Amino acid sequence: PAVATRPVPKPWIAAIHPYVPGKSTGTNGQVLIKLSANENPLGTSPLARAARLGTGEGAGDPARYPDPESHALRGALGALHGIDPARIVMGTGSDELLHLAAQAFAGPGDEVLYQRYGFSVYEIAARRCGADPVEAPDRDYAADVDVLLGCVTPRTRVVFLANPNNPTGSYLARAELARLHAALPADVLLVVDQAYAEYLGGDDEDGAMALTAATENVLITRTFSKIYGLAGERVGWATGAPHLIDMLNRIRGPFNLTITAQAAALAALGDQAFVAASREHNRAERARFVGALAALGNHGLRPLPSEANFVLIEFSGALTAEAAYKGLMDNGFITRWLPGQGLPQCLRITIGTAAEMDRVAAVLRQMAEAAR
Ligand code: PMP
Repeated sequence: PAVATRPVPKPWIAAIHPYVPGKSTGTNGQVLIKLSANENPLGTSPLARAARLGTGEGAGDPARYPDPESHALRGALGALHGIDPARIVMGTGSDELLHLAAQAFAGPGDEVLYQRYGFSVYEIAARRCGADPVEAPDRDYAADVDVLLGCVTPRTRVVFLANPNNPTGSYLARAELARLHAALPADVLLVVDQAYAEYLGGDDEDGAMALTAATENVLITRTFSKIYGLAGERVGWATGAPHLIDMLNRIRGPFNLTITAQAAALAALGDQAFVAASREHNRAERARFVGALAALGNHGLRPLPSEANFVLIEFSGALTAEAAYKGLMDNGFITRWLPGQGLPQCLRITIGTAAEMDRVAAVLRQMAEAAR
């Protein structure tokens, strides 16, 4: 047999298609208004910005390692959500926690299940630990409980469900989530990825928090990247039964949250007025944007129902998603066209400021009318 001349990657790693993040510059490097990564258009709470600068309390000494257990932050999260901090683990963004959950509970020979058009990190997380990714068919872009359950096999170890889901914006209501959980075998981990949950309003709209408290096989992940406006600080958290948290703690990086990230997230948590304002802004602007698209009439642009801070638009008329993507870019906006995720007919647009959404709707209208 031939001797390898360089290190040979594990075949399951070599099979990974890299995650493609939302861009902020155009093809000529021009700076664009970024509506491609579901960030907060209101920015960051001034309290969190001040805490990052390192003058506030908890700024710490950069020569020393950060608190490996993020005590203050977990305590504040526990107080806000009514959770024992022992049931909380922090991650370098919720991305890290999704990977750790897959790695802790699945491996070669196992299956990791999620819906088609689910968050694209799930496939990478499955492959990274050597498990087989399994995509359940969607129902009009959304997750369907019966279809998901039909894909469960004796090899299924982890089920990922983003609720609301990115990139579709679709949402599984409380009764449906409960039905999914009730029908899953007790030894299958259900990860409810709630990156966008705060946009819904109530703290436990889909009932996942109650499920984690009452059961042993549900893990919730949340993030400071969206409504808290701290995507750049990389702070996520997970909550679930202590034995689940214990496993994630064993394999996470011991100092996975920087001093700055802990201080900023703690301050952001203390500014719930900013969170409420962000939620209200999103609710109002999303409704206005969807209304503007509906007013376009019969041009084949269909905004899918969204509970998140973005809208996925399906294009079936003379104006294609690709042409709309390029036209918006020519007009200074970067959005997310998703051919790599099997959605070449769709464009995902993050809800921006009121002025931005007016302009985006106007550009789409001009293009749709010109294409006819
Ligand atoms: N889950 C979903 C559904 C997301 O859309 C995102 C962000 N794109 C994440 C998790 C990860 O976010 P972060 O790592 O910034 O917490």
